[in-house]
Amino acid sequence: MSAPEQKPGRVHLVGAGPGDPGLLTVRAVELIARADTILYDRLIPSSALDGAREDAELRFVGKQGGGEAVPQEHTTALLIERAREGREVVRLKGGDPFVFGRGGEEALALRDAGIDFDVVPGVTAGVAAAAYAGIPVTHRGLSTAVALVTGHTREDAPPGAGRTRAKPTGAAEPGGTSDAAQTSDAAQTSDAAQPYDAAQASDAARTSDAARISDAAQASDPTDDHEPDFDWEALAAFPGTLVFYMGVRALPGIARALIDAGRPESQPVALVEGGTLPTQRTVTGTLGTIAEVARREQMKAPAVTIVGAVAELSQSLHWLPVRPLTGRTVAVTRARAQASRLARRLEELGAEVVQAPTIRTQALTEPEPAPLDPSPYDLICVTSPNAVEYLLQRLDDGTHSPGDARALAGARVAAIGPGTARALRERGILADVVPERFVAESLVEALAGVNARRALVARAREARDVLPDALKARGIEVDVVALYETVAEPLSPRALERARSADYITFTSSSTVRFFLDAAGPPSAKTKIVSIGPATSATLREHGLEPHVEASQHDIDGLVEALLVDAAENG
Ligand code: SAH
Repeated sequence: MSAPEQKPGRVHLVGAGPGDPGLLTVRAVELIARADTILYDRLIPSSALDGAREDAELRFVGKQGGGEAVPQEHTTALLIERAREGREVVRLKGGDPFVFGRGGEEALALRDAGIDFDVVPGVTAGVAAAAYAGIPVTHRGLSTAVALVTGHTREDAPPGAGRTRAKPTGAAEPGGTSDAAQTSDAAQTSDAAQPYDAAQASDAARTSDAARISDAAQASDPTDDHEPDFDWEALAAFPGTLVFYMGVRALPGIARALIDAGRPESQPVALVEGGTLPTQRTVTGTLGTIAEVARREQMKAPAVTIVGAVAELSQSLHWLPVRPLTGRTVAVTRARAQASRLARRLEELGAEVVQAPTIRTQALTEPEPAPLDPSPYDLICVTSPNAVEYLLQRLDDGTHSPGDARALAGARVAAIGPGTARALRERGILADVVPERFVAESLVEALAGVNARRALVARAREARDVLPDALKARGIEVDVVALYETVAEPLSPRALERARSADYITFTSSSTVRFFLDAAGPPSAKTKIVSIGPATSATLREHGLEPHVEASQHDIDGLVEALLVDAAENG
């Protein structure tokens, strides 16, 4: 943290997008990673804070326990206080900070207090949820304008205080029969409430304010409670799409008021719940029917309502596939540096990923001092993707600079499996030998026809001796170089708990098993354990855990495939 007096802090008013972590901006991710303090709201993506510093202060300042919000003055005061302490503060809000996010109010308060601030726009829910539902908010020939409208304007106004003509009926509150939901054609409907809550709850488990967030997710948001206070005639006459930010409770009143003010009852309407989240649901109808449809489908906050001819396009343009892991949480225990490919794959399949990297790797310079001259070797075996990176860092043949792959030109290069081969390829090295399966025994087999005099085995400190032993047995002189070691990565208790109770927990190496169990203890009884292969499964069994799923192809693709098969069978 910076020294308070000399360096004044700064506040970044940052939009976190509508929920899909992929819609966080690059700038938002950078600032989250740097911040000393993050004050965040409820509707931010579940993994938005994953990249925050371990020592960052993370404070939830949204609505608590389904009831009162943290008063705005407190939030503003805290922003000012932290900035004055010299901290770099991120004020993280769902969607865009200046679209119904009270970002403008906070910016004014900061300006008055003489605090520097900047604004990082976010993808706003009204546009994003519509897009994810296949609705372009403007469309040539159908709509040449779009209005973003709040479901309420005066936060403290009692229900009915607005100038609406029709009172909300309350008919759209959640609680309709589940039979009705089941017979609907909106696929995941009856379950949808549950996954969304689950997503929020597991999100919440990561934060110290767990209960508040998950409660709040079940409650409707503040915009539900009040009727808007505006000129319905003007709104009804608006020549374009109306996008209402609000919960479902206000919907009947809004639809009624628009009809009464002259908007055609037959106008198409779409309601998008949990837009861009794995649990997104869309229902469509008309101004005349949407309230009843929403009630029947038990639509819940957060949701946006899109009124206008474009709403109908969702019928033909909906593109979001029903994804095979929708509604499931999957914990990823591998090191953060390697986790992203697996995490991204799982997210693309609809899973909510719980990042729980209990390990990381670090270079070993002792007892093997850098640099490493590869010239004496005619065979170089690389036994993990990590080893590729650490090997290249250490290479020095006296001719090329360290890191220059040309130093390996004189040797054959063997990769232990496809993942290592890929890592080599990324560095411009095409492995000469790659077994199909990622285990040392397979590499031994694949090397059977390869002649060598002297081999270098580049690997982690804690690795099996199958490969060096087999090479030695063939009369090859073998040097084993331990390039890196695996060490524990400290994780917060909440992250560990979230991982322990996920639907699936994935282990991609024996070290992930050992370090995870050390840090978190065994997974919950309902959690299915997914192992990448026999060596990892053996380590699980040594710890008294039986894997539910073992990949037959021992790499990330194989692991994902095995998980998918299990999810499909046990849907
Ligand atoms: N600043 C935010 C809006 C905050 S007001 C933005 O730019 O998106 C909160 C309202 O936003 C909710 O009541 C709901 O109407 C809408 N909203 C937020 N996230 C949403 C989501 N994932 N799907 C649908 N609506 C959402």
